[in-house]
Amino acid sequence: MILITGATGKYGKSTIDFLLKKGVSSTNIVALVRDEEKAADLKNKDIEIRIGDYNNYEQLVNTFKGIDKLLLISGSDIVNRDQQHQNVVKAANEARVKHIVYTSFERKNETETSPITFVAASHIATENWIKSSGMHYTILRNNLYMDLLPWFFGEKVMETGVFLPAGDTKAAFALRDDMAEATANVLITEGHENKVYNFSNTENVSVGEMAASLSEIAGKEVTYTSPSTEVYIETLTNANVPADYVGMFAGFATAINQGEFTVENSDLENILGRKPTTTKQFLSMVYASK
Ligand code: NAP
Repeated sequence: MILITGATGKYGKSTIDFLLKKGVSSTNIVALVRDEEKAADLKNKDIEIRIGDYNNYEQLVNTFKGIDKLLLISGSDIVNRDQQHQNVVKAANEARVKHIVYTSFERKNETETSPITFVAASHIATENWIKSSGMHYTILRNNLYMDLLPWFFGEKVMETGVFLPAGDTKAAFALRDDMAEATANVLITEGHENKVYNFSNTENVSVGEMAASLSEIAGKEVTYTSPSTEVYIETLTNANVPADYVGMFAGFATAINQGEFTVENSDLENILGRKPTTTKQFLSMVYASK
């Protein structure tokens, strides 16, 4: 029996769809959700729904009973995530789950000097809790979702160009659905015990190269400007972008610039059994029709 947490989220839903597509019976899949109203589509697929919140340890222990493999999809509540993930790992262990698979995050600088320490720290802590739990584990170090590029670029990118302090450093962005498919493969094939995989694209692409792809799609030049982080923060703040978003955009772009997401690794391609979707293919899908 495989349990998927975060089953009402994009990664969880996609992983479940790939499990079904690959022939896993719906009777062998359990979805952990905290809001049943969001789970109507899962019910229609005959997936068993169990209610559980990462904040509620006792509830999680009951929910995880009888589960062999558990996919912990990292939570979205960055402030409370440490305690939440610790609850899930401890509850899985107490419920005698045999194998835990975790969607972690790519990074190089593990110190507080990292511009993305606000997200990286809880992933590092969770990996350590999982490794010392005694359960079999597989850690998936996910690179940046390619799906977030339009969010980084802004709605008017084709008119205004790309404005991001990411320099010329390349990064191995990967499509969330590709990572979800590879996650499904890890869940249904053998030999992944106590492994750490890098779910990164096999190509590294700079933001300047992405702007060149956008130019090709638009049939006109889409410029790329890489300001200093300070100028970037000032410009977004003056444009009334909320401070939380400014901090997040600036942190990720600076991390790209510092090479946090430059990865030469073929784990994702190997586990998918095909080349991951390229940034150019993704940008064409998103922007060609606009
Ligand atoms: P998502 O659509 O926001 O899904 C997050 C899932 O976690 C949702 O199902 C949510 O439940 C569930 N969740 C959050 N807090 C919970 C709690 N306290 N108890 C139980 N469930 C809880 O995000 P996604 O796109 O699927 O991505 C999955 C995760 O990857 C994110 O949560 C985040 O940690 C991480 N992430 C990675 C990247 C990257 O670039 N690699 C980018 C963004 C996020 P509800 O549906 O009830 O809210």
